[in-house]
Amino acid sequence: MNKLKHTVEKLSFEELMQLKREIESGKVEQLINSQLERFKNNNQVCPVCNTAIRDGDLTLMFGPENFRKKASFCATDCLEYFIGKLKRDIK
Ligand SMILES: [Zn+2]
Repeated sequence: MNKLKHTVEKLSFEELMQLKREIESGKVEQLINSQLERFKNNNQVCPVCNTAIRDGDLTLMFGPENFRKKASFCATDCLEYFIGKLKRDIK
C-alpha cells in the first residue's frame, strides 16, 4: 500500500477530487477487478501489447526445467519482440 499512498500524496486538489468521484462511482473497483482477471488469465493476454488472445497458436515455453514459463502472443511481431528482449536479458 506504500506505493498507493505515495501516488495519492503526489496528486493535486483537482486530481484528488476526480479520484474520489471515480472511487465513489465504482470505476476504480471495476478497474481493479478487470486487472485481477488479467492476472488470473495470464496466458490469455499478450505480454507485449496486452491484447486478449483468442487462440494459443503462438505459445512459447522457456526458462530452466524447474521454472518453466509459458507465454502466448497475439501475433508473430510480438513473439519476435519478446524473443529479442529475452536475448538482451540473457546477455
Ligand atoms: Zn501482442
